[in-house]
Amino acid sequence: MRDDVPYDVARIRADFPILAREVNGKPLVYLDNGASAQKPQAVIDAVTRAYAEEYSNVHRGLHYLSNLATENYEAVRGKIAHFLGVADERAIVMNSGTTEGINFVAYGWAMPRFEPGDEIVLSVMEHHANIVPWHFLRERQGAVLRWVDVDATGALDPQRVIDAIGPRTKLVALTHLSNVLGTRVDIKTIAAAAREKGVAILVDGSQAAVHMPLDLDDLGVDFYAITGHKLYGPSGSGAIYIRPERMAEMRPLMGGGDMIREVTKDAVIYNDPPMKFEAGTPGIVQQIGLGAALDYLMELGMEAIEAHENGLRDYARERLDGLNWLQVQGRAPDKAAIFSFTLDGAAHAHDISTVLDKRGIAVRAGHHCAGPLMEHLGVSATCRASFGLYNTEAEIDALVDALELCHELFA
Ligand code: PLP
Repeated sequence: MRDDVPYDVARIRADFPILAREVNGKPLVYLDNGASAQKPQAVIDAVTRAYAEEYSNVHRGLHYLSNLATENYEAVRGKIAHFLGVADERAIVMNSGTTEGINFVAYGWAMPRFEPGDEIVLSVMEHHANIVPWHFLRERQGAVLRWVDVDATGALDPQRVIDAIGPRTKLVALTHLSNVLGTRVDIKTIAAAAREKGVAILVDGSQAAVHMPLDLDDLGVDFYAITGHKLYGPSGSGAIYIRPERMAEMRPLMGGGDMIREVTKDAVIYNDPPMKFEAGTPGIVQQIGLGAALDYLMELGMEAIEAHENGLRDYARERLDGLNWLQVQGRAPDKAAIFSFTLDGAAHAHDISTVLDKRGIAVRAGHHCAGPLMEHLGVSATCRASFGLYNTEAEIDALVDALELCHELFA
């Protein structure tokens, strides 16, 4: 945030039109940011302008609008690089989000180099987007998945990950921040060890990028995937950072227009990276909307957002700890404002979320696309309240009041 502007959550909330609406006759309390975040007017305006005044296909036309759309679209690559702390924007491949990014690495980098018995190290906290592509490798190429557990607090000891790296490990694939527990992972320590052992590291940054400042050039990873819709941008937008050495090793996943320089009946000459990896008409307007979202975040400042959310985390922890009949999952010392909880033996997560919804409170209930973590926790589902840059302590009070009602109804 600019030093002269304090973090004014009321002013920030006014930037998000949807936050003014009611749900079920109550003011909306939106605590489902981990699934997808709401959009500020600046993003809505950028999307509208891109369609209403500046739309054309990119990279192909020689006319005014095509050049303008290309300029607007390509400017986003630089914004993403800046936001992620990457000096060279050619390391950014734009795509539809984290799921595409991780699959792109699985097909484009891992499949050509994995032999039967080669290993991937991953934590039990991974989202299915960072599990299923590796199961493809297991099913199709005999890869072995090595799972690292979290401890009783939900923290991931970096040393346990490092110890799991063996002579057959080719990739470490980890989340930077758990979408269920909020646990932050010490990627820097793990990445340094992986590099020393000559092992690549892919990081699922879809949650971390939203809650903390990033400096990927310092973090030392090979692949870092982000998704735009959690970053207050449009769905269908996103990017993956790829270390230049790895990019040189990658095979294009999709063939088509834009990623080629020349095609004859007998041969193809590819475009230079990153274009080589962006086949076909991209999500032009989605990415332009993401650019506006990143501008918005950088104007507020990720440090200021993190400080605000850490305040919410501390307050929510204190209030939820006061409910001694509620089981709160995940107490890692380093965590973001994401809380999963259950009412064991009394109510299913879906029932809790239905009661909360009646009071205008949006949370997520289910397995959160984290099957192995649910297994580890010994639950089939949890309720998750995940906070964002516009949430307030008053909304935490509303959540606690509604949970007390659940307790009365179900206990
Ligand atoms: N990884 C994590 C940790 C997530 O929370 C999510 C979304 O919920 C994803 C990956 C998948 O992101 P997307 O569906 O935007 O590709």
